[in-house]
Amino acid sequence: MKECRRCLLREAAEGDVYQAVRAGIGRIPEKDRTDEALYERRLAACRSCDFLLSGMCLKCGCYVELRAAFKKSKCPDVKGKKW
Ligand code: SF4
Repeated sequence: MKECRRCLLREAAEGDVYQAVRAGIGRIPEKDRTDEALYERRLAACRSCDFLLSGMCLKCGCYVELRAAFKKSKCPDVKGKKW
């Protein structure tokens, strides 16, 4: 996987991983899933964050596109929560 700061998986063309993340998002019950506007705001915050690396949050090791899709999720940066 090509390392890219500021990239989300969907931009890094990592087909298999991105497809797995998309499938994971699809399994989140609608009532627990972030609405599209909030989801995009969260991802925009991640894209401006120094802890994003190739779609992964270096604070928690998760793929932000999946983490952000859960309504109840929070940014794991305890010192500078961005969402
Ligand atoms: S620390 Fe928060 S804003 Fe930064 S990449 Fe992780 S989830 Fe996104």
